[in-house]
Amino acid sequence: MKAYKSNSFLLLSTILLGSCSGGGGAGELGIVVLCGVLGFGVIILMIEKGKSGGSRRPSARMTNERGIFLDKRLEQKKGSRLGFKQRRFIAKNIGLYHWVPADLMEAWEERILVFLDQFPISHMKQGKATEEMRLLVAAEACLLIVRRPLSDYRHLQVVHLWEDEIEGNENARGTATRHEVNLSWNYLKKTTRNARDGHNLTLHEFAHLIDFADDGIAQSIPVSGHSKDHKEWQTLVDQEHSRLMKAYESGKNYSIRAYGGYESIKGDKPELFSCGTSAFFERGSRLKRECPKIYEALKKFYGVDPASWRKQKKV
Ligand SMILES: [Zn+2]
Repeated sequence: MKAYKSNSFLLLSTILLGSCSGGGGAGELGIVVLCGVLGFGVIILMIEKGKSGGSRRPSARMTNERGIFLDKRLEQKKGSRLGFKQRRFIAKNIGLYHWVPADLMEAWEERILVFLDQFPISHMKQGKATEEMRLLVAAEACLLIVRRPLSDYRHLQVVHLWEDEIEGNENARGTATRHEVNLSWNYLKKTTRNARDGHNLTLHEFAHLIDFADDGIAQSIPVSGHSKDHKEWQTLVDQEHSRLMKAYESGKNYSIRAYGGYESIKGDKPELFSCGTSAFFERGSRLKRECPKIYEALKKFYGVDPASWRKQKKV
């Protein structure tokens, strides 16, 4: 929900049950305001937790090496494919599977295989996550970077799955820091099956991870301050945030959920990129029509064009 200039800070997201329905509207804006107030108290607690538990934070050098290693592993997996059962499970459980163009399938599956090898996924109640749980998380996380390097996830250390509520963050269905993602398993399954409601828990949280990766801040600018695109992103975020707020204030619906309008006390707008990412993948045509600038920026960043995707019958 908030972004801070520290790796250990927690970004509560995707939240609050009312605003997760993806419907939008003026009532949802009220929830956004409520999120801000409630979330601030939670974040303060997490800041304290982060301070006391910072020993797991890798050094900058280590994380850079990790990125190089991940990209090398991806290169080595070139041409590797999922097994038939794995593909069938993904087809059955991930709504977007049937929309992803055939020419992206190989790159997607190569990334899934490296992800499964390289990132621990635990279930907080059962201990070990099942193969099916791991597969769903890996598949969704890798769809986001199907045209990007795996080093986007170089800071990620662990993914925790919870049955429903996330302990210590009972109001959230997903959270992300620079190093850790927490997901409610039941909510994940629900948002994964529906490919066209503009809301997807896993895509949302992993978009935060990408936003954090460049500079440790989630402010909806996924490129570093040294990038030639940084200023363009800054202007875009400010403009789109203002358009979103105006739309919801006037009672209109919008392709990006109202929660995308959340703004931290420092003025960062961490949810626009995450909510925009979910809309980009699941409501591409509508986003392109309503917010062409943000659609083009996300298309350039992710290297895919979901507005052109058509549903196909695949196994
Ligand atoms: Zn979020």
